[in-house]
Amino acid sequence: MFDEFSDGYCPQCLLEDRRVALKLNQADFWECPDCHLQAHTRALGMLAIMRTRGNCTAFRKEIATDYVIGWVVSPAAAEAPYKLEEEFGSEAELRTFLASVK
Ligand SMILES: [Zn+2]
Repeated sequence: MFDEFSDGYCPQCLLEDRRVALKLNQADFWECPDCHLQAHTRALGMLAIMRTRGNCTAFRKEIATDYVIGWVVSPAAAEAPYKLEEEFGSEAELRTFLASVK
């Protein structure tokens, strides 16, 4: 299910109807313990999906569902991870982006 707003669940796993809460990894990025998609929340109100996956096995105790409530899902820019791009407007856009995440 595509949702342009995040409540802290992994956007990729949600597309497969699985609700997996993002957890804080050792680099202080949110990471899905399942598919390892990474995101940051350096801009308040935005969950920016990063272009590289993590490989965390020992997560910190924080989970994104405690912090992220109705935040806009957007891609991190290719040239700089903290530069934000416009939010995803459709499921197709999100899927195309996810296919490019390494
Ligand atoms: Zn996931």
